[in-house]
Amino acid sequence: MTTEHDVTTATAPASGRGAAQPLLDVRNLEVTYASGAAAVRGVDLTVDAGRKLGVAGESGCGKSTLALALLRLLPAGTRVTGEILLDGEDVLTMKWGRVRAVRWAGASIVFQGAMHSLNAVHKIGDQIAEPILLHKKATQAGARKKARELLEHVGLPGARADAYPHELSGGQRQRVMIAMALACDPRLIIADEPTTALDVMIQAQILRLIEQLVAEQDLGLVMISHDLAVLADTCDRLAVMYAGRVVEEGPARDVYERAQHPYGKALSAAFPRIGDAGSRFAPRGLPGDPPDPSALPAGCTFHPRCPVALDVCGTEDQSLRAAAPAHLAACVHVGSPVPQQAPAAAEGAP
Ligand code: ADP
Ligand code: MG
Repeated sequence: MTTEHDVTTATAPASGRGAAQPLLDVRNLEVTYASGAAAVRGVDLTVDAGRKLGVAGESGCGKSTLALALLRLLPAGTRVTGEILLDGEDVLTMKWGRVRAVRWAGASIVFQGAMHSLNAVHKIGDQIAEPILLHKKATQAGARKKARELLEHVGLPGARADAYPHELSGGQRQRVMIAMALACDPRLIIADEPTTALDVMIQAQILRLIEQLVAEQDLGLVMISHDLAVLADTCDRLAVMYAGRVVEEGPARDVYERAQHPYGKALSAAFPRIGDAGSRFAPRGLPGDPPDPSALPAGCTFHPRCPVALDVCGTEDQSLRAAAPAHLAACVHVGSPVPQQAPAAAEGAP
């Protein structure tokens, strides 16, 4: 992660949101790394305030690339096109000073593996206070007070502000990461596998904490996980990514229980229960791996692994189409109803 700090004054994101304008509106996002890897391909997503979008998919499907793109945290030389409208303002065309302000006060990211994201030699209270000092024009004392309040808000005693990261458990460190993400009162939280490194009990506690904070503060949430069951339990809507594309999207329970895309079906079968330890790291029953984004197969990128692929799938890619109310899937088997008996024939019967 880039750790650039802004010295200019951070302001809240431009308001002026119309009632119909989503908090986050991603349009036709494409990300190609300097290596030529097409990691995100034509992604459209929206998140309203107070809503929780889950982004699912196996490792390598472009989920973290998407998360990093949202705050322009991708390495130099990466080509990013499309629009990322945060409160109507395009993150991709913002000046750097504005981007840095938005990174804390507009949207912030909680990463997987809190130990690596925290600085081992600084007290956690100071680490939480740092963005508050930089972006909120707070005094030292004010920032320290806010850091303690944030710790209490995420369920840790304020006195833990004087602890070093190694003195905390994995779950406590992830709570600290969430406190940091909340430090500058963002409107949107992006959580990239926030509980993957935690055991099942702690995972559930952290998920409930995130849900509670989102509801209390009317935040938008983009929660990324390879575990469809976890997302179905936490989020309102789910987007399933495969090879850089959203191949299925819909109401969370619907996508989990009645997946329409063969990849969505495979993922939900692979995560049969929430917090199933056996299936947490590799989906079961799905042979092979997602394709290398530098050498994508022709046609539907899932066809080489697809149990129901037709000849056409090797040559023609499918775009998202309606599978059920508010539920889209990009599959040749979806949205093309089986030809019906011609109604005229029934009418003509004696
Ligand atoms: P996920 O989070 O779903 O596991 P990633 O977004 O991390 O997926 O990766 C998507 C694809 O982009 C992978 O094939 C990965 O190897 C590739 N990738 C990630 N980071 C880079 C990079 N810095 N340069 C080139 N390719 C990258
Ligand atoms: Mg990732």
